[in-house]
Amino acid sequence: MLTLRRGVVGVVAVLLVSGILAAGCGGSEGGNPTAPTPAPSTTQAPPSVTTSGLFTFSFSAGMSLAEQDFIRSTILSGNTFFQTSMGRTIQQPTIILATTTKPLCVVETQAPGFTGGAVNGLPAEITICVGNMSWLSMTSLHKQKFLIHELFHLVQFEMNWREEGVFDGPLLPYWIVEGAAEYVGWRGVESMGLVTRDTARGCNAKRASEAGAPADASLDTLEDEEGFHGVHWGFEFGMLGIDQLVLSRDLPALTTYGRLQASMPWRTAFESAFGISTTAFYSGFPSYRAGLSSLASSQGNCREDTRALFR
Ligand SMILES: [Zn+2]
Repeated sequence: MLTLRRGVVGVVAVLLVSGILAAGCGGSEGGNPTAPTPAPSTTQAPPSVTTSGLFTFSFSAGMSLAEQDFIRSTILSGNTFFQTSMGRTIQQPTIILATTTKPLCVVETQAPGFTGGAVNGLPAEITICVGNMSWLSMTSLHKQKFLIHELFHLVQFEMNWREEGVFDGPLLPYWIVEGAAEYVGWRGVESMGLVTRDTARGCNAKRASEAGAPADASLDTLEDEEGFHGVHWGFEFGMLGIDQLVLSRDLPALTTYGRLQASMPWRTAFESAFGISTTAFYSGFPSYRAGLSSLASSQGNCREDTRALFR
């Protein structure tokens, strides 16, 4: 995932490109690996630009009509899901760009895409690197989760999920920003009937353990970029942390948090929105995760990369 100067969030790497800070959101793994990707279509389309409400969809030449429809319908379904689950949709003009040639896609070939908020008159944009292997190899389920994950980053940009009084640069703190996007991504595919919540929880718990997360690890070390990207289980922990936080208040707690943190220190907003201090939450997280161990061990293949199925 990449975070552009105008604010881009993605997952895998962080790099400096022409003075633009970029980080790519790859998303975490987990879920039903058997979900098929859209069948390759024999209908190859020319470049196309279409609009739907605030969304402008720009598809590069050569994409199948099936893949175009897949991306378009997932974004629109995700936006509808935001409204029904949190009472908030994307509110600003947004470009959904599916491309093989955008420089950041070419430079960061491991990234399935990037998201940037609106800035300096430029509209918000989700870039999907449809030629990158990280996108091509994802199951259909994980592509949909990834798109909804990125779409929620745009909600975060619109609400300015940054430190109080900061209006540019990366969204913070990392585990909350990425964890919320990842959690909402999972809930989005759950709302489409593609996965159960227990599978989502179980697979994230399983993946975190497989990636080497110590039993007593918590989220306190994942607040900043270095800490978050310094481990291989940041997205899984973030997803599970948000899962624990919204158990009683559900998804509206996320938009409550977003509204509050724009005008106060984020820890204060956290305690108000989720009903627990960061200190108490951090100390209790290992127990919550341990409670998912049987659910984790009952999951099958949780990988998102279809290539793994052929190894
Ligand atoms: Zn992300």
